[in-house]
Amino acid sequence: MEFIDLKKQYALIEKSVRKRISAVLEHANFIMGPEVKELEEKLSRYVGTRHCLTCASGTDALLLALMAKNVGPGDAIFTTPFSFIATAEVITLLGATPVFVDIDERTYNIDPIQLEATIESLSKGHVPSPGTPSNLKPRGIIPVDLFGLPADYDAINNIAHKYGLFVLEDAAQSFGAEYKGGKACSLAEIAAASFFPAKPLGCYGDGGALFIDDDSLFEILSSLRVHGKGADKYDNVRIGINGRLDTLQAAILLEKMEIFPGEIEKRQRIASRYIDGLRNIIQTPIIPSGYSSAWAQFTVSTERRTDLLNRLKEKNIPTAVYYPKPLHLQTAFGFLHYGKGSLPVSEKASQEVFSLPMSPYLEEKDQDSVIETISGCFIKKG
Ligand SMILES: *Cc1c(COP(=O)(O)O)cnc(C)c1O
Repeated sequence: MEFIDLKKQYALIEKSVRKRISAVLEHANFIMGPEVKELEEKLSRYVGTRHCLTCASGTDALLLALMAKNVGPGDAIFTTPFSFIATAEVITLLGATPVFVDIDERTYNIDPIQLEATIESLSKGHVPSPGTPSNLKPRGIIPVDLFGLPADYDAINNIAHKYGLFVLEDAAQSFGAEYKGGKACSLAEIAAASFFPAKPLGCYGDGGALFIDDDSLFEILSSLRVHGKGADKYDNVRIGINGRLDTLQAAILLEKMEIFPGEIEKRQRIASRYIDGLRNIIQTPIIPSGYSSAWAQFTVSTERRTDLLNRLKEKNIPTAVYYPKPLHLQTAFGFLHYGKGSLPVSEKASQEVFSLPMSPYLEEKDQDSVIETISGCFIKKG
């Protein structure tokens, strides 16, 4: 059993993917070839935004969005500590300061009530940790759609509007999810997706995309993606990066998009099956009404995590812990001096969650053995 089964998927699409790859090898436009534009049109149509701009990774997507918003020293960006390092790393790379806000214990996403309280307290001069500089200017919010479940965008966008902040949706895990009728990647002013192979829509290397409605911000992002180009590539009007998506990866993603909607339905069925089999035994994911998850991960929670992980390992069932250490306690953010206990819900989650094998191609018999093994851990011996 694989944790995420990419080989079964490849077996299904091998012919069409090879054909797409051959076409690129023959036309030889490896940088910004026609597949890139074709993909951007396909993705923006799927998500429902005016524009899509592909780029080299999900991390670059987040970075480009913050660069387009002129984020820099003295700026505070509010985000969740229960995420992958990239979410907060890009803030620090630009000289700005991440301000961590604890999560909702049910959804693992940033808690809008604590978000507003943190913004209020920062504007009254209270820093959230001893290493956070004073007099930061609140600029933006990066909610993360963790494990594929969108954050609470109605609440978050209202708060952003009230305090004049931008919202950047970190949709690295949620491409294909929905919130109140809208698709993930269309839920905030700007969204960043990742096409890292293990994400719901993955390529065969690194890749990412930005989604946006605003025309002028889209122009700025397009320029930033190619070294801050102006009218042509040897006319540079701002400092940018080399952040393009390879034509080959675009070609692969075009074929993967053909089967993607069906894969989301399969993930949905597999997740429901897990929930039916496990909900009386262990804490299963909570999907509030009006939300749907892209099921990047199927994550359960228990105080007996070590025990269960050992038992699953004995049965050769692969598992993963996302994330064993919240960002505010990572060595890389040691300079902010957040203490243990400062963001207790995230800290508790990092001690108790783990993720089960999940992919559109997980077989029922394998899923049954996962469910049986977990059930077995809760049956009293003797
Ligand atoms: C994967 C991921 C990223 C980074 O994406 P890459 O494509 O690997 O750069 C950012 N944020 C979250 C929440 C992620 O899961």
